[in-house]
Amino acid sequence: MKNHKGSSMKRNINHSPETPFKVRESAPILMPKKDGVQVLCPFCKVPHPILPGQDATCGTSLRVMAVQTIIPSRVARLGKLTCLKCHKGGGGDMVRYANGYIHLEDCAPATRLLAEPPKFSRLAKIIYQLPARVRKLVEKRTGRAQAVEEIDPEGKETGKVLGYFFLKAKV
Ligand SMILES: [Zn+2]
Ligand SMILES: [Zn+2]
Repeated sequence: MKNHKGSSMKRNINHSPETPFKVRESAPILMPKKDGVQVLCPFCKVPHPILPGQDATCGTSLRVMAVQTIIPSRVARLGKLTCLKCHKGGGGDMVRYANGYIHLEDCAPATRLLAEPPKFSRLAKIIYQLPARVRKLVEKRTGRAQAVEEIDPEGKETGKVLGYFFLKAKV
C-alpha cells in the first residue's frame, strides 16, 4: 500500500467560534481498486474506508463538495472573455465551460449548454418538426421537444443538429 501521508497532505486545524471543538481536515487517502477508488481515513494509523454523512468509529466522515471557480466580472472584462451562451463580453461573473466561458447568471434562459448529451429520441424529432400549433398540443403530453445544436469549442453554432430530446420526460 502506498500513500502520501505527510508530504502532500495539508492539515488545517480550524477553530469555529460557535463550538468548543476543533476540526481537522485532510485529503483522504485514495486507494485504486478494481472497480473504482476506495476512500480511506487519513487520520488513522491503519487506514479504513470512510463514507459521506457517516461517522466512522474514529469519528471521521467524508465531506464531498462540488467546487467551481468563478471568474470575477473585473477579470472577465480585462481578459475580454465572451460568453458561449449570449456571445457577449464586457463583464459579469463567469465560469469556465468546455474550452470557453459562460456567465454565472443565466444570461440566455432559452439556451442550455449540456455537459452531457441527453437521451435522444426519434419521437422528439418527429414532434419538433410538426406545425407549431399541433406541436404545442402534443407537447402538453410529451414535454417540450428540443433540438440539440452542436457548437464548436469557441461557442459558434456549427449548424449541425445532433439530435432531439424531451426537455421534461413525462412518465
Ligand atoms: Zn479513522
Ligand atoms: Zn452570457
